[in-house]
Amino acid sequence: MHYISTRGGISPITFKDAVMMGLASDGGLLLPQSYPVITREQLESWRGLSYPELAFEVISRFVDDIPTGDLKSLINRSYATFTHPDVTPVVKHNGVYILELFHGVTLAFKDVALQFLGNLFEYILAERKQTLNIIGATSGDTGSAAIHGVRGKKGISIFILHPHGKTSAVQAMQMTSVTDANVHNIAVRGTFDDCQDMVKELFGDLVFKEKYSLGAVNSINWARVLAQVVYYFYAWLRVTDEKTIPVSFSVPTGNFGDIFAGYVAKRMGLPVDKLLLATNENNILTRFINAADYSLGGVVSTVSPSMDIQIASNFERYLYHLFAGNTDRLKEAFAELKEHGRISCTPDEMILVRNDFCSASVDQASTLQTIRDFYAETGYLLDPHTAVGVKAALDLLPTDSARVCLATAHPAKFSETVEQSLGFQVPLPESVNELYGKPTRCEIMDADIDKIREFFIAHIG
Ligand SMILES: *Cc1c(COP(=O)(O)O)cnc(C)c1O
Repeated sequence: MHYISTRGGISPITFKDAVMMGLASDGGLLLPQSYPVITREQLESWRGLSYPELAFEVISRFVDDIPTGDLKSLINRSYATFTHPDVTPVVKHNGVYILELFHGVTLAFKDVALQFLGNLFEYILAERKQTLNIIGATSGDTGSAAIHGVRGKKGISIFILHPHGKTSAVQAMQMTSVTDANVHNIAVRGTFDDCQDMVKELFGDLVFKEKYSLGAVNSINWARVLAQVVYYFYAWLRVTDEKTIPVSFSVPTGNFGDIFAGYVAKRMGLPVDKLLLATNENNILTRFINAADYSLGGVVSTVSPSMDIQIASNFERYLYHLFAGNTDRLKEAFAELKEHGRISCTPDEMILVRNDFCSASVDQASTLQTIRDFYAETGYLLDPHTAVGVKAALDLLPTDSARVCLATAHPAKFSETVEQSLGFQVPLPESVNELYGKPTRCEIMDADIDKIREFFIAHIG
């Protein structure tokens, strides 16, 4: 299996090279040249598999440059850190299935991908006798999952910038309580955008990037998408038996990474009826699906902050497929976005979009109400991101289908909002209680690119 760029500017590369390249060197995103197709018979034969066994079946079909034993060991180690024996269990409440993706170390679904990516990086770097310095900006979830994915790993240092005092308390502690020598937390006196701008500037300096082997961990890495494809198969096998019922997935969406993984599963032949793309007030993708209106607005802050995004980076991967691999059409679309702040699609293209996706936007009041109602009816706590998806599913998906809602974070991770909605304190899992009083290490710095650069150079491995 080889990988190509959505912009058509690179010759096909292997899986390991795709992992190390991250963003394609022509500015596009990497995709497999084709998708392996899983027959119904094959799918049925997977019913008895454990999560890591299923992960191997799915992932190995995209990887032909890592020996079987090594790949199995990478996968097993990645999912051994999860606290639930099923890794991503499915529970049923109020007629909907909840796919719990929050049993990893940082209590959000990003652990599913970043535990695997951390192990992959370490494996490939050791083999190539290389080192990697990861730099990233985070509003909370990606940074904590990335830090826990690479802490203590040989050949890797990680520098994560977060806006000082602007993440949730749990998110900050999950980052700064990691005191391994290869982990560097920088709390920037500024906003998330300040952090992101400085990271972009460091990556934009190609000489600097090359000299210090800079790498990224944002959701544009193909290995992250690939790891997430697995739980669509896993959930499907849990909510069906041999007779066919329609299965739909509701996905709280920010960067389009998680839902793109569902689209990949569908392309591989998983019988998925609809992918429901659920957004908060930052609803450009909902406007696109429902009204063919992909026009940029401003970002607003909501109670589901990990979805407060305007430009969903992984959307480019989907557009590539929507345009049937026509890279000229894709480049045209991005030129239009740059010049006019929008992307226009034809009515025929929109028919294709709506074959696979439906969408709803859920506002703040409705999100908080859903947390309340769901708790009152079932006793089950939803985090605000998950609540967006659940509300959209209850409104849009037919009740005679299996409605699977992706639970992207544990309610304790956003306990401030859940408490605001319910009026009582959310019980904290042990891993969160343990954070209080742990020693922390964090550098508090001004949003000054020169100071950040100096700090980085002084602290690389
Ligand atoms: C990152 C994140 C999302 C959005 O996922 P995308 O892959 O960016 O669409 C949703 N919920 C939570 C809790 C997250 O951390």
